[in-house]
Amino acid sequence: MALLPLDRALRQLLDQADQRQLRETETVATHAAAGRILAQPLIARHTLPPWPNSAMDGYAVRSAEVIPGQPLPVSQKIFAGQMPPPLQAGTCARIFTGAPLPEGADAVEMQENVEPQEDGRARFGQAVSAGRFIRPAGGEAQPGEQKLAAGVRLGPIELAMAASLGVTEVEVYRPLRVAVLSTGDELVEPGQPLQPGQIYNSNRVLLQQWLQRLGCEVLDLGCLPDNLEAIRARLSTLDGVDLLLSSGGVSVGEADYLGQLLREEGEVGFWKLALKPGKPMTFGTYRGTPFMGLPGNPVSTLVTFALLSRPYILRRMGMQAVAPKGFPVPVDFAVTQPGTRREFMRVGWRHGRAQQYDNQCSGILSSAAWADGLLEIPENTTCQPGDLLTFYPFSELLG
Ligand code: AMP
Ligand code: MG
Repeated sequence: MALLPLDRALRQLLDQADQRQLRETETVATHAAAGRILAQPLIARHTLPPWPNSAMDGYAVRSAEVIPGQPLPVSQKIFAGQMPPPLQAGTCARIFTGAPLPEGADAVEMQENVEPQEDGRARFGQAVSAGRFIRPAGGEAQPGEQKLAAGVRLGPIELAMAASLGVTEVEVYRPLRVAVLSTGDELVEPGQPLQPGQIYNSNRVLLQQWLQRLGCEVLDLGCLPDNLEAIRARLSTLDGVDLLLSSGGVSVGEADYLGQLLREEGEVGFWKLALKPGKPMTFGTYRGTPFMGLPGNPVSTLVTFALLSRPYILRRMGMQAVAPKGFPVPVDFAVTQPGTRREFMRVGWRHGRAQQYDNQCSGILSSAAWADGLLEIPENTTCQPGDLLTFYPFSELLG
């Protein structure tokens, strides 16, 4: 079977996600909306700022009245939060940052360029041009103006934007309900003694925590044994789940029962991806519920979740720009034997170059813990130290 290129797999997944995008929305308080995805655009209701105001601590003037060296009387003092009377002709006003400009004034001179005189007047060192150091009304927003589009994920900056518009509630998509399971007879949970042949389950916490960061509601199904009936029994009781996400058991080994169950009770697309690590992956439905089966090697789980599950999940929750942002960085190593699968190496950002972790084996989680992100090495690519390749920092992938 030909290996499916990553881009095509992602396109298929996003198409599926669009078809099953959540429709239900809820209205939540802005302060509780971090990480949620806007279902309605954020529209300004007021002119912001509502009035022209000073960008500096200084003196508000009629610019034409300023003559260098000739002091002007100071007729009023305006602090932020006050609404001043008009500026008297032939005078200036002491003004502070953010304070409304008095009617008649058309410029502000910063205090560093003004010398207060002993008689209380202010002496300007230079001419002042109209408009100087004024923040105009409406510079931030006009009534009816769209400030954030639907499909935007709300982080601290977007929430600050909403707050600046005086918005107290936003309409967002409800969280995706994701049931997570790991499979494997060899797995035990931390806290249990390891028997011969056993290893600790690390994917469970990886997926659980990651899903929570993405704003999903996580239903933890724990770890299921490599036993068809046990898996069938657990899955058949599920209700109200938007996505089933598993790790392990989707290869074509004899103990890979998830695949068997899907073939019997669902629709299954087995994929062999042209991806390293992360070649085996399953996507389909189980009794009508979308199902995503990730390979079990911890780094394969990580890479397939980062590149495929994460965008799929965010798109289902209504987010539009789901592609992680990568940027070109110089590498500090050579790739001389090009692979036929697109590779995502765990690399650290060291001294302005991408450095690879020695052991790039997909079972070695330390490679990811040491690294700062993933470096994309396209199919059939060789490179020399100093060549540019695309780097995806974990900060782009994990949240
Ligand atoms: P599988 O995809 O089930 O064939 O598993 C591939 C490799 O990943 C095997 O070495 C498994 O022991 C390991 N593995 C599978 N699931 C987990 C897990 N939840 N935590 C840690 N290692 C796992
Ligand atoms: Mg297994």
